[in-house]
Amino acid sequence: MQCPKCDAEMEDVEIYNVIVKRCTSCKGLWFDHAKHEFLRDQEDADEIDTGDPEFGKVFDKKGDISCPGCSATMIKMVAVDQPHIHYESCSQCFSVFFDAGEFKDFVVKDIFSFFKDLMAKER
Ligand SMILES: [Zn+2]
Ligand SMILES: [Zn+2]
Repeated sequence: MQCPKCDAEMEDVEIYNVIVKRCTSCKGLWFDHAKHEFLRDQEDADEIDTGDPEFGKVFDKKGDISCPGCSATMIKMVAVDQPHIHYESCSQCFSVFFDAGEFKDFVVKDIFSFFKDLMAKER
């Protein structure tokens, strides 16, 4: 399977008996059948997101990608409770693509990011 963002090869990463595809180059993550929702609630599932978030931001700007699973054009989405996270979703096979660093961000619960913001201001 080829990465929809940079065309590099994607590798299988297994976590909680779920296979996730990770790009060997840009480290983007592809989850089929909305498995990101299941993994979001699993402890340490975000360790599969090994890429550099700064690098991910570069690829985040690349739009109109085709789903690597079914070739449909993926739709740009914004995480409901974290509007700074942009990911791509396939309306045909319900897969999603996260750029490097975005999934790690996605699994962090709101209360923690809020707390981190407070700490940052007090320093
Ligand atoms: Zn890639
Ligand atoms: Zn698809």
